[in-house]
Amino acid sequence: MNAAASASLARLSETTASGPLAHLPVWSSIDASDVAAGIAMLVDECRAEFEALEASLVPTWVGLMEPVEVIEHRLGSVVGTVLHLTSVKYNDALQEAYDDVRPQVIALSSKMSQSRPIYDAMVQLRSSSEGKNLSTARKRILDESIRGMERSGVALAGEQQARYKEIKERLAELSNTFKTNLLKEEKASRVAVVDEARLAGIPEAVVEIAKSQAVDDGVAEGAWHFLVNAVSYLGICQQAADRTLREEMYRAFRGRGVAGGHDNRPVLREILELRQEQARLVGFANYADLSLDAKMAPSTTAVWDLLATLEAAARPVAEAEIDDLATFAAEVQGAPEGGLAPWDIPFWTERLQEDRYGYDAEALRDYFQLPRVLDGLFDLIAKLYGVEITESTDATVPTWDPSVQFFEVRRNAEIIAGFYVDPYSRPGEKRGGAWMNTVVGRDRLLAVGDLPSSLPIALFVMNARPPADGRPGLMSLDEVRTLFHEFGHATQHMFTEIDEGGASGMNLVEWDSVELASQFNEYWMEHKPFLRALTAHVDTGEPLDDDTIDRIIESRNFMVANATLRQLHFAKSDMALHERFGVDPAIDDPAVLDIEIATATLVAPRLDEESPLPAFGHLFSGGYAAGYYSYKWAEVLAADAFAAFREVGLDNDTELSAVAQRFQETVLGLGGSRPAAEVYRMFRGRDATPDALLADHGLLRDEPAA
Ligand code: ZN
Repeated sequence: MNAAASASLARLSETTASGPLAHLPVWSSIDASDVAAGIAMLVDECRAEFEALEASLVPTWVGLMEPVEVIEHRLGSVVGTVLHLTSVKYNDALQEAYDDVRPQVIALSSKMSQSRPIYDAMVQLRSSSEGKNLSTARKRILDESIRGMERSGVALAGEQQARYKEIKERLAELSNTFKTNLLKEEKASRVAVVDEARLAGIPEAVVEIAKSQAVDDGVAEGAWHFLVNAVSYLGICQQAADRTLREEMYRAFRGRGVAGGHDNRPVLREILELRQEQARLVGFANYADLSLDAKMAPSTTAVWDLLATLEAAARPVAEAEIDDLATFAAEVQGAPEGGLAPWDIPFWTERLQEDRYGYDAEALRDYFQLPRVLDGLFDLIAKLYGVEITESTDATVPTWDPSVQFFEVRRNAEIIAGFYVDPYSRPGEKRGGAWMNTVVGRDRLLAVGDLPSSLPIALFVMNARPPADGRPGLMSLDEVRTLFHEFGHATQHMFTEIDEGGASGMNLVEWDSVELASQFNEYWMEHKPFLRALTAHVDTGEPLDDDTIDRIIESRNFMVANATLRQLHFAKSDMALHERFGVDPAIDDPAVLDIEIATATLVAPRLDEESPLPAFGHLFSGGYAAGYYSYKWAEVLAADAFAAFREVGLDNDTELSAVAQRFQETVLGLGGSRPAAEVYRMFRGRDATPDALLADHGLLRDEPAA
């Protein structure tokens, strides 16, 4: 074997080996030059191990499920480490090296998830006496593995299997075409302005981009070329005083995806047709049923019922919101001729929001000092779940940057989990935004020393403003909210009580319920005393004033009914198309169905011919097909779960910790070892209802129905 590749692989896969914090990658010893050869070798070794396993299968848990998991872990942890570094320690060489080997990694993952011998052995294990007596968690891992493989066509034979493969490849190609068409169209698109006066109101940063675009286009002076994308759309339609400019941008942005040469309409039509054929091949009546087979929602009927309930509640409020907006616009500027046009809605929404709830987002930063926000969050978690969170004093904990901190989580003095925090922006090497990821999960097979399993480790990446001039790092309100969201995901990862790696933490948690833990955790920021305690002005130490805190909390519901209807339009179109297009011969044109649904659902003014489908990446080049409803599904769960805490009183510490303990032992603790619906019932004693969400949004009408 190649000695250099072998040494590279050793550096890539080196981790801390002892103590409770085993399995931490030695981040700093990884160099771009190790990546290509090291990962290529890892892929070869994992493939050889996997093929050896396929050749001599023993259909028992130890003979089959464990070795598969070990191989997947070996591949996944090295790839995960490298991918993490491309996000937080980016350099071109590292990215290019990974891009080189990525196809090999994907090919092996797909080979492993599509293996017929492994599938057959799993089916054999399931019907054996060992299979019938597996623990709940193992049983679910086995069942879901089999079902997942069946949904992806492993059990098909002969011509059907060949056709399935063909469809899969064609769909990958089409989804890529869909995305590329939009990118090409964006590149070629321009909304040009030559009269400077028309720029009034547009944020400077957006104007600057348009100015340098004009220069790139060869126009040196006095022109601004706006690309038709979300940044320009928001900059112009929310802020530009010039109504005709707003109209021009609105029509261009809302009409994306149909331009000659980049027309996505035939692409999405073929995608929908092929998805239906794919679903039928693996035994489902339509693609929506296939999608829901892996989700918490029990049926398309249950999804439609929820959407209808939310719509009925939101509609009257949405109408009142639009009336309110029209009245405000008329007061400020005199009623526009013909009433509010579609391109007036974003503009006047912004003006009304400023008028009612305006606060200076930049000035607010001075109140959110990063160390204090972290302390507030950790105190909350400690109080709720009976743990202690302290920064590690162990200087040997490997990190990828000197500013990265490592925290240990203890219960009854025993360490149970750990997490990294990488708080500050590092332009040039760290991707923007904020996210969490897992480093290692709780897993019996990775146990070290006398512990029964490995300890879960998470990581948080943020882009807060770094400390400067003796002041601590400062966060925007959005950054604080995202931190709470991401920490919610981490509580499910870190507080898991499941030792089977395949079902611990977030593993096997259905896609439409995985945002429960995260959105739940965000709710604490709407509790006024808690939010106030998070704030302290960087110079004076004063907490934020009551009036501003009220504005922050109340503004969450501003125009919420119209926002809800917009999400419902997307969710209904998505569901209807994947249920009916290509199945029901009466549905001939996806756009006609979509426009029908939009007309029936939305109350804000829109163009009659407007349809988002040709630019709807979530459905046609993302993972949301027959799953867009999940946004609302998870919101309902999070609101209903938080209501259990509200019911006992958010300041009643004794009662609160009893509810929190139950939440921890069920939703956070059981991971994917049982179906999410069952876990939720264990927590709440019943299914979730939309009432709490509707009440939070002010959409619950208390007057009796007429
Ligand atoms: Zn999330």
